[in-house]
Amino acid sequence: MTDHDVIIVGAGFGGMGAAISLKRLGYGRDAASLAILDREDDLGGTWHVNRYPGLAVDIASVTYSYSFEPNPHWEHWFARGPELKRYAEHVADKYDLRRHLELGVKVEGARWDDEDQHWVVTTTPVAGGETRTRTATYLMTATGFLSQPRLPDIAGVHDFTGTVIHTAKWDDTAELSGKRVAVIGTGATAVQLIPVIAREAAALTVYQRTPIWVTPKADFRIPRPMRSLFAAAPWTQRLARRANSAWLESMMVTGVLHYKQAKLFNQGAAALAKAHLRRQVADPELRDKLTPDYSFGCKRPTFSNDYYPAFTKPHVSLETTPISRITERGVVTDDGRETEVDVLVLATGFNLWDTNFPAIEVIGRDGRNLGKEWRESGYHAYEGVTVAGFPNFVTLNSPYSYSGLSYFMTIEVQMRHLERLFGELRRRGERTFEITERADRDFLAHMLARMDDTVFVQGSCATARSYYYTNEGDAVLLRPTSSANARRAVESFPLDDYSYA
Ligand code: NAP
Repeated sequence: MTDHDVIIVGAGFGGMGAAISLKRLGYGRDAASLAILDREDDLGGTWHVNRYPGLAVDIASVTYSYSFEPNPHWEHWFARGPELKRYAEHVADKYDLRRHLELGVKVEGARWDDEDQHWVVTTTPVAGGETRTRTATYLMTATGFLSQPRLPDIAGVHDFTGTVIHTAKWDDTAELSGKRVAVIGTGATAVQLIPVIAREAAALTVYQRTPIWVTPKADFRIPRPMRSLFAAAPWTQRLARRANSAWLESMMVTGVLHYKQAKLFNQGAAALAKAHLRRQVADPELRDKLTPDYSFGCKRPTFSNDYYPAFTKPHVSLETTPISRITERGVVTDDGRETEVDVLVLATGFNLWDTNFPAIEVIGRDGRNLGKEWRESGYHAYEGVTVAGFPNFVTLNSPYSYSGLSYFMTIEVQMRHLERLFGELRRRGERTFEITERADRDFLAHMLARMDDTVFVQGSCATARSYYYTNEGDAVLLRPTSSANARRAVESFPLDDYSYA
């Protein structure tokens, strides 16, 4: 008898999706049998943790949401952060997930007990208190890719005596108005944040190491009649989802993952971004600095209408000379110039490859350490979900799991995988599953072969630093197939690829 049938680590949209699937299968009749643990003090994952000004989704909300739970109440075509948090709360209520939540609980690690055929999971209350162990028949990690903030490895970053804020740990009390602000980083987060800071700060210096591809954002406040239509006739919202997803698929997925066959899509997207920059920035020198020198899609592109114009304001400067160090007063560049600032904003992203694959220590059969194995022998996960040697374990943030279309696409494919796998387990009257070494290996070989078609291999990516690549430079995060392929695969993967006991 275990403490829980299932432990899900992470109460974001991925963990909630897994819980919804399991409940559909009949798990979680009593609250404790299905435990969703999260170190934060509320559900919502990314959309609970991130609160920086300008936070919004950059995939239109008709697509960035569960297809089975359309939300006719989105106020913006690209929902703002608080709207997504409200949507997460709505989903938790509607699917009766709250009673399974244990918040403020940090999962330290998990070990497979082969004798008793269950997981032993170690947890500690974040607020302090005793570390305890609990047992569960099944363990699922839904810890997100972008959950461990990365501080830049710049000398002196701890010497700065003004205010320092990482975007994922936003300080709501920080005053930016009338201040001299520096932002380090120009990723998708900075693209949202910079226009807002530019409106408030007295002076803003943006330190850019690598420019980002930015295309126009067709953003608008959804008019009330349109929301009423979505509510009264849900098929209209489904239609909008389809149209938007098809457009995204052609630009973000086909042009990137099928670069070899569809270079034109990739070039079209790059041309669109360049035209956007030309329209918004007249100064050729500034334009040059903002233009990426790597192929579109080598790192995640983004969408914005107010990012480029921010740099044309007289009090905003774009600094491309590398940072040499940070002092107690400000930032010094390689040419010896020091820019004094009051607030230092670190829009420096997240550490995936040292701390997030996996986010907790996972020890499988025969003492196999998942993190060590991935780092030393290469990243692999069957259909981005399961790993040989790790019975009754589902890893939802895995190599080759992420469909470039939208995180919700990934989540729903994984939900379907769980439904088929656990359905088969039940049908056979068994309790333990494990993906076979052969199936795990064959899937990896398939992914590596498909990788040859992508922009990561065929394009010009040498200068694009990105969290897409491991420390060894391999792009193992995205599933290098179309979304349609991922959807087909989840309906047809042979259930015999698993062993059952
Ligand atoms: P990111 O894309 O990893 O960008 C980090 C930025 O910090 C990069 O420009 C990087 O430069 C820079 N940087 C890091 N260390 C540095 C150093 N030591 N010196 C100078 N610059 C340094 O992180 P992010 O902007 O937080 O975005 C992460 C992801 O979050 C996005 O790609 C996206 O998937 C997601 N996101 C989504 C939304 C949404 O609406 N859906 C919104 C925001 C973010 P280099 O490029 O040179 O390394």
